[in-house]
Amino acid sequence: CMSEVIMAEVTGAQLIAEALKSQNVEYMFGIVGVPIIEVAMAAQAAGIKYVGMRNEQAACYAASAIGYLTGRPAVCLVVSGPGLIHALGGMANANMNCWPVIVIGGSSDRNQETTGAFQEFPQAVRSSIYGRPGASYIDIAGDMVNAKIDRASVRFVSCCPAPPVSQADSREITQAVRLLKAAQRPLIIIGKGVAYARAEKEVRELVEVTGIPFLPTPMGKGVLPDDHPNCVAAARSRALLQADVIVLLGARLNWILHFGFPPRFSPHVKIIQVDLCAEELSNNVRAASALLGDIRAVVRQSLALQSTLPMNYYTAFHHISELLPKDCIIVSEGANTMDIGRTMLLNYLPRHRLDAGTFGTMGVGPGFAIAAAVLEQTQKSAQRVVCIEGDSAFGFSGMEVETICRYKLPIIIIVINNNGIYSGVDPETWKEMEKMGDMTTIAPPVTLLPEARYEQVMSAFGGRGYLVRTVEELCSALQESLKNTHTPSLLNVLIDPASDRKQQEFPWLTRSNL
Ligand code: ADP
Ligand code: MG
Repeated sequence: CMSEVIMAEVTGAQLIAEALKSQNVEYMFGIVGVPIIEVAMAAQAAGIKYVGMRNEQAACYAASAIGYLTGRPAVCLVVSGPGLIHALGGMANANMNCWPVIVIGGSSDRNQETTGAFQEFPQAVRSSIYGRPGASYIDIAGDMVNAKIDRASVRFVSCCPAPPVSQADSREITQAVRLLKAAQRPLIIIGKGVAYARAEKEVRELVEVTGIPFLPTPMGKGVLPDDHPNCVAAARSRALLQADVIVLLGARLNWILHFGFPPRFSPHVKIIQVDLCAEELSNNVRAASALLGDIRAVVRQSLALQSTLPMNYYTAFHHISELLPKDCIIVSEGANTMDIGRTMLLNYLPRHRLDAGTFGTMGVGPGFAIAAAVLEQTQKSAQRVVCIEGDSAFGFSGMEVETICRYKLPIIIIVINNNGIYSGVDPETWKEMEKMGDMTTIAPPVTLLPEARYEQVMSAFGGRGYLVRTVEELCSALQESLKNTHTPSLLNVLIDPASDRKQQEFPWLTRSNL
């Protein structure tokens, strides 16, 4: 009749489904029965994929795995009583794994005390993914499933955004980086929290710029590939026992990691722990450095701090290896430069690496590079010759740069300059020593002139010389040199004179030793 207002009605089940959909919940696993059949049907109608399972426990395992894999919770839909009890196993597993999941259980019809269930959806999504992820439960009274209300009176809460990201205290970061730099046998443990945090890019950079070996937990596997040169999974027990500083990323010192206790771990091990759950910090072993925050953010913080320090071998080689074409010919000599370069600069083709060789001869680099470049020129192939020299090694045949320039061979020479043989001193220390008297009695025999401008040897003969101190300068100079196919160039890369290779307590760090 005309006077009657046409009311758009919506059922409780539809509201649940639409609220879930508006929270970007895409999957539902469950076993239907009274009173939640309509909830599953409404979910499908709203565009949520519904998978009917055979036991609520498996349904909850499935829903929680979606939460881990996507970072957004899925729903496990169960009936009251036995259905919910079966789901408890899955909820407990999700909680222990720190994986988000929303369990929706139908229950008997409302009594007076029930609160407005629909309002609880956004909260459930939020509590499942904010803070430490886990299970959350919503109880739906049976009579609400089919109860109808006016759509106009429904208010959906807007989609719950991804969890806010928190950083660690910057002083704690400084302390942690200091601890890590002082470590003799550092180890990074990669847990499933890193996978959940999607921090693979940041953690790879951390591993590669520091050269530190890593060990994945069972579900931390694959965050970085198992065949990564720094993966020490094949020597797990030894790595755990010998490490003096461990960076614990998104993993707990529980039974999987032998609680962090001796005899599996050194009693003196220092733990740098990164976790977003404050209660987890210092669990079982008191953390030497407790970094409360999101793994991605915290690893970025520590990378930013490290990049303000002078580069070390690992940082320089990490960025060089990112830019070198796979088919380039690598000529290398030096002590640390050649050793560390061997593990970090990969070769993909035969006869594309020339170095100090059987006799360990220093001074072979420029000659080898000239030969390779002349061959390239005759064969009209476009492969580049990159000659990576220690500063001492470069000294033996540095004047061949004139030959290189005379024939316009587009060789790229990279001098990894640490002011000495094995290691040197910084310019300030050098000046102090000069004030003290006769340098022939004072200067350590391993030292060379600090910050010697080897790049000017190249510019002296018309090639391009680059003085490089920072990662940015390194990358732009190398990119420019690779683009320029007519002119030779020399990058004088000043690194921390105290930079040394990590002690070879992890011989498996180099894959050639595996
Ligand atoms: P594993 O089984 O691989 O050792 P655990 O489940 O024991 O991993 O530990 C994972 C840890 O990661 C948990 O303590 C959890 O609080 C934490 N975690 C999960 N996501 C993040 C994140 N984004 N940032 C920091 N820590 C996280
Ligand atoms: Mg040197």
